Amino acid sequence: MRVTFTADELAFQDDVRAFFRDEMPAGIAAKQRLGVPLEREDFIRFQKALFAKGWAGYNWPVEYGGTGWSPVQKYIFGVEMAAANAPGIIPFGLGMVGPVIYTFGSAEQKQRFLPDILESNVWWCQGYSEPGAGSDLASLKTRADLAGDHYVVNGTKTWTTLGHWADWIFCLVRTSTDVARRQEGISFLLIDMQSPGVTVTPIITIEGDHEVNEIHFDNVEVPVENLVGEPGKGWTYGKVLLEHERTGTAGVAKTSYRLGNLRRQASRPVRGAEPLANDRNFMRKLAAVEVELKALEFTELRTLAAVAAGKAPGPESSILKFKGTELQQAVDELFVEAAGYYALPYVPAQYALDFPVEERVGEGNETQASLTYFNFRKASIYGGSNEIQKNIVAKHVLGL
Ligand SMILES: Cc1cc2nc3c(=O)[nH]c(=O)nc-3n(C[C@H](O)[C@H](O)[C@H](O)COP(=O)(O)OP(=O)(O)OC[C@H]3O[C@@H](n4cnc5c(N)ncnc54)[C@H](O)[C@@H]3O)c2cc1C
Repeated sequence: MRVTFTADELAFQDDVRAFFRDEMPAGIAAKQRLGVPLEREDFIRFQKALFAKGWAGYNWPVEYGGTGWSPVQKYIFGVEMAAANAPGIIPFGLGMVGPVIYTFGSAEQKQRFLPDILESNVWWCQGYSEPGAGSDLASLKTRADLAGDHYVVNGTKTWTTLGHWADWIFCLVRTSTDVARRQEGISFLLIDMQSPGVTVTPIITIEGDHEVNEIHFDNVEVPVENLVGEPGKGWTYGKVLLEHERTGTAGVAKTSYRLGNLRRQASRPVRGAEPLANDRNFMRKLAAVEVELKALEFTELRTLAAVAAGKAPGPESSILKFKGTELQQAVDELFVEAAGYYALPYVPAQYALDFPVEERVGEGNETQASLTYFNFRKASIYGGSNEIQKNIVAKHVLGL
């Protein structure tokens, strides 16, 4: 397989590289470098900068204000964004509900929702999983009962990422139980988080962060015009979105960037000790991850070639998802190993922009290694657990 970009694609790469080098909003690059957690407003500022450049709709067709980029351009954009250590685009609006609305929504919905999604004026979250419905999503129980010109929604969604920052939530809800298959009778509903009867309860994850939530719906009235597409077809719309989500969670470019950092860290003597690069066992593990990552990159490029030829991402996206997240977690482990005892202290105060560098505990982001390690245990669970992805690969790719 030849992997070469055309002259136009190389020029585009230069353009993207220059944007991330020169036009990232003030403070964000510094926060990223120091590992300072980003606030809601930071993500919005970053996405608005992309909007100003005309790049917020990186995944969208031109007719809805998107870039109309080819799959190769999208790939280059993703790689450069990771290589610049940029924050990454929060997927729920631009990557998920936007494409569902412009593909399946009514003319009124497109007019009402798409401009605000594109400009990051409205924060969206994803309401699929429920306390009793994760892997087996079709068993979801949140109900939306039609009552004249509105639905009445009752139920609980869980693990809702950044739901506490969200203005709107897109949900899979059951609108009918009189169905032959459980996947039927599920609909795709857009719900204003300010609606009476919506409550948000935090879930604190193992590293102490508030990132996910439970969202409760207690007789929430939702106008019928907020139903996307046809009633009962939500499963079909939701599946399209999940295949895109899985391709996006592979994170090959980001893992590659982090591996580069790890290699640099290993090449330096730290606290007067020999550089880790002299530890053959550590370097063997690092090289093994690098080799696997390279192989995954080629799988990603093969998927890209298929998409460039007009095919939708298929079940191969499951390979990207489980292998990509396994490698993310392997790199997390190597960072913890590299930090040694310095991975143990938790010093939240030092993750502030004005914290004096000379008073920091550890070199670079050493004390963050465990936080990242624990946080990213999620990667093999979200977007459909890795065990489920392996089932999909066994059935639809290997034909077992
Ligand atoms: C940090 C985080 C963020 C998330 N964000 C969101 C979000 O924003 N919106 C949203 O809707 N959801 C979100 N999720 C939910 C996520 O999609 C689910 O957690 C996931 O689908 C797994 O479902 P579950 O947690 O109910 O586990 P279960 O389905 O109960 O699975 C438990 C275990 O059993 C295994 N298992 C289940 N069925 C099978 C099978 N058939 N074969 C083999 N193994 C099986 C699973 O792999 C897993 O290890 C998030 C999850 C996490 C952890």
